[in-house]
Amino acid sequence: MIEVIFNASFITSSCFSFLIFVFTMTMYRSNNKLKLFSAAFLIILASNAVNYIFLKDAFQIDIGLLSTSMFSLYMLIVAFYGQKNKNYKFLYYLAYVFTAANIVIALKYNFLFTFIKSDLIKWLVQIAALALVLFFIKTEGSKDIQFKRAIALLLLSKVFYSIEYLNQYLAVIGFCLEASGYVTCFSYFYNIVYSSFMDKVNEAEKLKNTVEKSFYYEVKKRTIEIEKSNEKLLELSKTDSLTKAYNKLAIMNIIEKLTTSKARQTFSILMFDIDKFKTINDTLGHVTGDMCIRTLVSIAQANIRSIDYLGRYGGDEFIIVLPTLSANDARIVAERFRSKVAETNNPRFTVSIGIATFPEDGKTVKELISAADIGLYRAKERGRNAVSHSMLF
Ligand code: GH3
Ligand code: MG
Repeated sequence: MIEVIFNASFITSSCFSFLIFVFTMTMYRSNNKLKLFSAAFLIILASNAVNYIFLKDAFQIDIGLLSTSMFSLYMLIVAFYGQKNKNYKFLYYLAYVFTAANIVIALKYNFLFTFIKSDLIKWLVQIAALALVLFFIKTEGSKDIQFKRAIALLLLSKVFYSIEYLNQYLAVIGFCLEASGYVTCFSYFYNIVYSSFMDKVNEAEKLKNTVEKSFYYEVKKRTIEIEKSNEKLLELSKTDSLTKAYNKLAIMNIIEKLTTSKARQTFSILMFDIDKFKTINDTLGHVTGDMCIRTLVSIAQANIRSIDYLGRYGGDEFIIVLPTLSANDARIVAERFRSKVAETNNPRFTVSIGIATFPEDGKTVKELISAADIGLYRAKERGRNAVSHSMLF
């Protein structure tokens, strides 16, 4: 019976020591006391291995005494030395030194234990060593209390093992306590390693989200900028640089759309041209000539509706598109515009205007422009500063 229990104890301590040591060493990135404490379990693992491979007997109390003492001593060194110093690497090596020393003593110098005759004393030494660990190891967070609980359970298990000679069932209790001590210990290491692992995962997740967000905003910002500059370019491609009115191509496209749209309806165009502009250029200069063109455009813009369009057809020739207006309505607009231009002075200049109406005077852009051109020619014929239609007036 006692043999079976000690075997079970041997397997339990080996398995959990292995788990704690390997799990913490491989999964935990920070170099702190937790990792060093996990290194202490290597001592127990190595001691069990020596016990099993070389000493054959399932369990030897001398080996238990040695490994528990080494384990406790190492824990105490970590607890004291690690508090003041940050040189954790040295303490790692110390864990290996302790492990090696444990093996050497177990194999070569086990006569040392013969000095202690009584098994009870050997157990008491182990209990005292673990009690020291329990007493001196500091708890920093609520999780650390779990570690102390684990050590306390291991300590209690040794207490029950030590009095096993009174009743063998005491050894059963001892084993149960030992097993729960190891389970608690592993769960302590697991919780800390897992939560630090999850912290890292969450941190990475957050970082990924911010990177994605800023990337998304940057792309969106750039897209808006590109769209804006495209719009500007498109607008520029439609605009005459001197007057900012539509250029020839743009105004022709507008007329084209009005003649071809499904919901097309009557509209008129005014084609107008500065009278004797060459003379203005020749006598007053091109700068004044340009000024006249700009003045003409601002008068035109002030006299049209928001739905009308103004475009420069070429040189001193312009076109106004008047959606929905018949020839007679367009004539009223043209007359008002002509007289406004005639009011200019410094220099005074006038315009002649030709009117054409869709669909009576033309069904295509070409037809409409040539009809308006005929009207303009007639206005020039009539002595300029006049409004004409190719046939009506
Ligand atoms: P008409 O009454 O028959 O129209 O006589 P006109 O002298 O105005 O003759 P026409 O319309 O054929 O002449 C247009 C002149 O306008 C020719 C050109 O030198 C001048 N011109 C064309 N574009 C510009 C411009 O952007 N600035 C200036 N200052 N002059 C221009
Ligand atoms: Mg002219």
